[in-house]
Amino acid sequence: MADVLVIGSLNADLVVRVARFPAPGETIQGGDLATLPGGKGANQAVAAARQGVSVAMLGRVGNDNFGDLLLDNLKSNHVDTSLVRRDAAATGTAMIIVDQHGQNSIVLSPGANGKVSPADVEPASLPDVKLVLFQLEIPLETVLRAAAAAKKNGVRIMLNPAPARALPEELIAGSDFLLPNETELNLLTGQPVKDVASAEGAARALLAKGAQTVIVTLGANGALLVTKDEAKHIPAFKVQVVDTTAAGDAFIGGFASALLRGDELEQAVRYANACGALATTKFGAQPSLPNKEEVERLLRK
Ligand code: ADP
Repeated sequence: MADVLVIGSLNADLVVRVARFPAPGETIQGGDLATLPGGKGANQAVAAARQGVSVAMLGRVGNDNFGDLLLDNLKSNHVDTSLVRRDAAATGTAMIIVDQHGQNSIVLSPGANGKVSPADVEPASLPDVKLVLFQLEIPLETVLRAAAAAKKNGVRIMLNPAPARALPEELIAGSDFLLPNETELNLLTGQPVKDVASAEGAARALLAKGAQTVIVTLGANGALLVTKDEAKHIPAFKVQVVDTTAAGDAFIGGFASALLRGDELEQAVRYANACGALATTKFGAQPSLPNKEEVERLLRK
């Protein structure tokens, strides 16, 4: 069916640009509203598909216009949507404001994403894929069941533990690839993460809990690859930042695609850094996800 199955969220992103973030109780005026396809699950599905690997998505959207928009968008990006169900709940939405420095601030309304149930991810209902990719914008009990189902089917598990939260040890132990950012790593381990050295210490704590490979994304500082055999800091590409929304999603989709094409870990992280960097050069989530040609052009520079 596909090489990668993404089990996760689909959101309509409602985005407004502002000069600065409002203080509590303050009303400020922003720019025009943009309604864009998003959700970490769908973003990572599209990010991987744009790098040329075959991707299927499992999740739920509402029976509403946003649901139509999100399904149409996945299809136009060549993502298989046959496992995306329509739910009575509203499609998930993310209200996003982006300031003049490209920083964002987000309120999520999970809607149909909150209804993705353990019954949706029984081993028999999962297609035959090489890699299953999760985030944490669907119920945790569903993620746990899906990870167990993937393990039972002998499929590799990649987990982006976002948004940040503490996790049951079994999920960390069951992850072949764990890809947190600094905030997520701090929350998972309780250890401060403020530079490459502290990120390595915290990543090692996840290895001690059973994760096989940990890749910490460090924003403008690139990424840190940690396995039991090596710790390697791979610097970011220098680009003109417009909006950092979905940089992490671009990185993860790019990393998954590079692995599936047979890249070594370090090479795959470099590829993912290029994907993440390019995503910061454009406004929005999915519209900013680069294609394979753009990534190869940056890698040649
Ligand atoms: P998240 O968006 O999940 O917080 P990060 O901010 O760590 O994730 O960004 C993910 C990846 O995107 C980084 O590891 C890096 O490769 C790339 N990236 C992010 N910000 C920049 C930047 N300012 N310049 C270049 N690359 C960046």
